[in-house]
Amino acid sequence: MIKVNKLLLILTCSFAFGLYQPECSAGVFKKKKKNEANKEAVKEKNEYDKFFSEKHTTVNGLIKMHKMKGKLYFELPINLLNRDMLLGSTVSEISDNANAIIGSKPTDPIHFRFSKMNDIICMNLVQSENINSDQDENIQRSIAKSNIDAILETFKISVYTPDSSAVVFDVTDFFVGDNKLMTPFDKYSANLSWGMRRSEIFQKDKSSLGEIKAFPDNVLIRSNLSYTYTISGSRGTSAKDIPFTALMTRSIILLEETPYRPRITDSRIAIFPVQITDYSAKEQKTKNIYYAYRWRLEPSDMEAYKRGEKVEPKKPIVFYIDNNFPEKWRKYIKEGVNQWNELFSEIGFKNAIKAVDFPENDPEFDPDNIKYSCIRYAPIAIENAMGPSWVDPRSGEILSASVYLYHDAIELLNNWLFIQTSQADKRVRHTLIPDEIIGDGLRYVISHEVGHCLGFMHNMSASSVIPVDSLRSPSFTQKYGTTTSIMDYARFNY
Ligand SMILES: [Zn+2]
Repeated sequence: MIKVNKLLLILTCSFAFGLYQPECSAGVFKKKKKNEANKEAVKEKNEYDKFFSEKHTTVNGLIKMHKMKGKLYFELPINLLNRDMLLGSTVSEISDNANAIIGSKPTDPIHFRFSKMNDIICMNLVQSENINSDQDENIQRSIAKSNIDAILETFKISVYTPDSSAVVFDVTDFFVGDNKLMTPFDKYSANLSWGMRRSEIFQKDKSSLGEIKAFPDNVLIRSNLSYTYTISGSRGTSAKDIPFTALMTRSIILLEETPYRPRITDSRIAIFPVQITDYSAKEQKTKNIYYAYRWRLEPSDMEAYKRGEKVEPKKPIVFYIDNNFPEKWRKYIKEGVNQWNELFSEIGFKNAIKAVDFPENDPEFDPDNIKYSCIRYAPIAIENAMGPSWVDPRSGEILSASVYLYHDAIELLNNWLFIQTSQADKRVRHTLIPDEIIGDGLRYVISHEVGHCLGFMHNMSASSVIPVDSLRSPSFTQKYGTTTSIMDYARFNY
């Protein structure tokens, strides 16, 4: 009861205080102080509001972004300073895909962090490849001093938020400029085959900022970039001053504060590695160690997993299938992804990997965002497919991976099937091979590329372990095939 009364008293008092402050000396003092604070807040608020007084668009997420008069401003929360981030640059649309294909990342993602230096925000390149595994503080301090973050870019702070919890700066030139670290031109593109060289001239007046999107764990910026380019080789110039435009999607994701636990590779198993240099006093040498590329596949129920039951992972590996594939190829592409579950089952997981269509009603989904893994179609006459992946450089954790299928992979399959198997299989003795046979070949190609996305390199020794007389035995090959790994190049039994 007393407590209730006290509470009532306090409430009443503060109410009265607000109404009758001028009559109370303490009240006058407090009011003055409050007024000063209010005035400051109003002044600060005015600066921020004044800065954004023009009509503008704002999106709020990991980083708040403002688009005003063709310029892009980041409103970076102070608590994101010095946090590791990854910036991926993906081709969304292009005027000539012989320079880079849609969905590809012509440049490696940038591992960076923002820092603040007086009234400047710096974008720093992070180095994580030099370590001391002995946990020797002296060596670690020395490594840190010898590998400080290089400053990639600086941005002048335009204004603070009224509560000073975030800084606003102009990033337009970084995203809508000729930034070589995020160029739309791929050095492995078709235009540069046969030793050809390309020179590019950026067209600033024909380049502009596009759509911006922000989500809790990432932001996305699109830029229309225009250039002219010239292709030349040992026989002279084959194309001169060709107009070129690409719509690029740049996405920034926040990396975990504590990286995933690295796994040292076993040299007997061909897994893509991150190379790390270890300055070890204990081992009395500098040695290279290799962190395996690997997905963060964790059992959803650890106790059941330990009991040997098959469990779902906390987060499955999802591949989104391009909605631009010819409809009749889709089911084989999905099979090429989903058949990996048979192997994940051997290590205790069920439904570890799945293929899904591009979601139609998910406003967050964007195939060009670095956080999504996709299987993309490229309408270009290249007889190949690829399966690159992007990792956290601190640990080798695969963050996303995508397969690119070039159009003439299908022609390659047609040729392989006809030349290598028509002696034995009369179904393929045609110019056009039936869809279900081509489809099965497509399943194989996708499955191999998904293998790269899971971290596997080629494994050419997989077929050589089978004795030749076994390869000549139909009863053996019908049961075991011609190789022990899909990462081998042993497609058909000819
Ligand atoms: Zn391969």
